[in-house]
Amino acid sequence: MKTAQLLLAVLLTCTPVQAAVGSAPAPALAQPPFFRGDGYPAWSQMTPANAVAATQAAIMESEQRLAAIAALRPAEYTFENTFLACYKADENLRQVQGYLYHLSNVVASPAWQQALGRMHSIVAMHKSSSHAAEQVWATLQAAAQAPFMQQLSAEQRLFVQRMLTDLRHRGLELPREKRAELAAIELELRQLGSQFSSNTQAASKRWQLVITDRWALQGMPEPWLKQAAAAAQAQGLGTERQPAWLITPATAGDVVRCCGVEETRHRCWLGATSAGTALSGADNEPIIARTMELRHQLATLLGYRHYADMMAADRMMGNAERALAFVDDLLTRSKPAWDAYVAEKLKRHSRLHGSKLTAIPPWNETYVDAMLPPRQHGSHAAAITPYLPAEHVISELMKLWGDILGLHFEKLPTACLKPGVPCPADTVETWHPSVQCFAVYDTATHRHLGSFYTDLYPRPGKRSQAWSMPLQFGEGDAPHLVALMANLSPPPADADRPHLLTHADLYLLAHEFGHVLHLLLAHPELRAQGAMGAERDFLEFPSHLVESWVWEPAALARLTRHYATGEPLPHHLAELLAADRRHSLIAPHMQLLCAAKLDLELNMHWQEKFRGRSLDVAAAELLAPWQMPYTQPTPCAMRTMLHCMSEGYAAALYTYKWCEVMAADVHARFQRDGILNPATGAALRHAIFDKGGSRPAAAMFRDFMGRAPQPDALMKRYQPTNL
Ligand SMILES: [Zn+2]
Repeated sequence: MKTAQLLLAVLLTCTPVQAAVGSAPAPALAQPPFFRGDGYPAWSQMTPANAVAATQAAIMESEQRLAAIAALRPAEYTFENTFLACYKADENLRQVQGYLYHLSNVVASPAWQQALGRMHSIVAMHKSSSHAAEQVWATLQAAAQAPFMQQLSAEQRLFVQRMLTDLRHRGLELPREKRAELAAIELELRQLGSQFSSNTQAASKRWQLVITDRWALQGMPEPWLKQAAAAAQAQGLGTERQPAWLITPATAGDVVRCCGVEETRHRCWLGATSAGTALSGADNEPIIARTMELRHQLATLLGYRHYADMMAADRMMGNAERALAFVDDLLTRSKPAWDAYVAEKLKRHSRLHGSKLTAIPPWNETYVDAMLPPRQHGSHAAAITPYLPAEHVISELMKLWGDILGLHFEKLPTACLKPGVPCPADTVETWHPSVQCFAVYDTATHRHLGSFYTDLYPRPGKRSQAWSMPLQFGEGDAPHLVALMANLSPPPADADRPHLLTHADLYLLAHEFGHVLHLLLAHPELRAQGAMGAERDFLEFPSHLVESWVWEPAALARLTRHYATGEPLPHHLAELLAADRRHSLIAPHMQLLCAAKLDLELNMHWQEKFRGRSLDVAAAELLAPWQMPYTQPTPCAMRTMLHCMSEGYAAALYTYKWCEVMAADVHARFQRDGILNPATGAALRHAIFDKGGSRPAAAMFRDFMGRAPQPDALMKRYQPTNL
């Protein structure tokens, strides 16, 4: 989450200090572990109860600081006591929220989830009064015209500009009754968002299919059948002698890919795609329609043409038209590769079918692909895995990027402690015994830039997927602290067997490591302008950049080492890996582009193109030139796309492709200069990584590349000759 958004959440929550102090008992003193400080957090001292107390204390502290800003006389205005003070007003609240989010994601305890919910409701409760917010807004508006503004540096001016845009988006410029209208819209949007999410999740749990005829599952592997039979028995279905097999949304994809009986594949495909449709009993279409109406009302209330324009205002794109033009341009450029891919697919299906097909049943697509020879469908992963012992891969990834960017990494001693047990000297406390911690130093100056925890393997109660989380932003030269979270292939239960990662693990790890580098290296003058202060449509650039190296032969030669022989990955396997990638790129590329186009069009042109029409029909019409020709219509992907219903990613799916364009462009410069070239690495660090969000991303990109981003390098990956 953008730090500025947290600031605004609090700014709007303010009640006058006198009323807050006088009318309610003072909350318990905040517990030190939750408030920012130097050094590593004392995780064992953090509890759900003191997290709630710390939230209350942080809100009170924020109110007092905002009241002090509102009480300033115009002659007293400076950058530090107005805009900067406004940012600093809720530093402790941001810190508490950050730790709370983190712990609720990594610790298996309902108490942490409850504490998170409590924190949300405490913050929401304070939103009901906005006296201090109004006063602070008036002060900031007056300060924006004050003489000190003429003396500000470019970084400070950018900071002021972004803060004022954020505050306007929160409605502070509106009269009080319009602000109430805005608050009501925001509340309904949040309710719709959670209804959408629970519909989607409930549907994925509700659907199941019980098969009692073994013939209907021919082609399914024995271990899969055993698991499906055990799942059925757990529900009291089938017996040892007369087994039944239970298929759930989690296993339906296996059936669609492997089962030799078309009718079973068809039934599973219908079930798996029913989420968010009327068939599932929880239709998301009315929720999407109402959301689009409300977003339009909200955007026009704030003076924008539509919601997509409002969301793009503080991004690199600047407006929605530019974002849509970018997506349309990529769709046009990708069309020849896509048409070649579709023609090839129809040819293969026709060959197996025995007659020329112009469309294929969607439930046959992956089944037919899986019947192709391994060369064409990316089954080399198993051959590569023995070359990826976990410890070697992780330490080499750091060394590799250390050499490119001029950094070195040091593993620190760690301990996971019980509450009340003191932490040994020179030891970093962690929240789980498997968590490690690394310090990052500048090789030339030996300056400690930051440290990061790695929590890489799944365990009960830990959130799925992979993510990176900033935990502390150091002021000035003070180091930052970040957590790199993932769910990679876990160590084997048998300690004698090697702990190996897959290439997909390496790719995920590299992606998150890109985020970590971006978060740790930025040390701008203003803490608020760290990496998370950059435009949202730039934040995936570092991660996409670093992940590009996991297909580079020169990088693979260092990252891989056979667990038994010590040999690096043979050249022919690196080639096959690259071929797998080329073959598998175009379909997800087009899926994402189509989703990004639909996402933008919905938020820009709801009234003209979608209102009163079937979402499935309108979306199919819009995206027809770039869709696989299927024998029957498929439900619109937006019905289950949680991203598009969240505030952060609404009208912003394009950012993934935009960041890919920038990353491929920069990667191509490295390919020209040398993939491990430290001079190019130093230039990249100086122009982009070190700056964080203190300079507009477009200017940082231009500093490094000497021009604006161009899509040619990315498009080269999809050329039909490469398929
Ligand atoms: Zn990412």
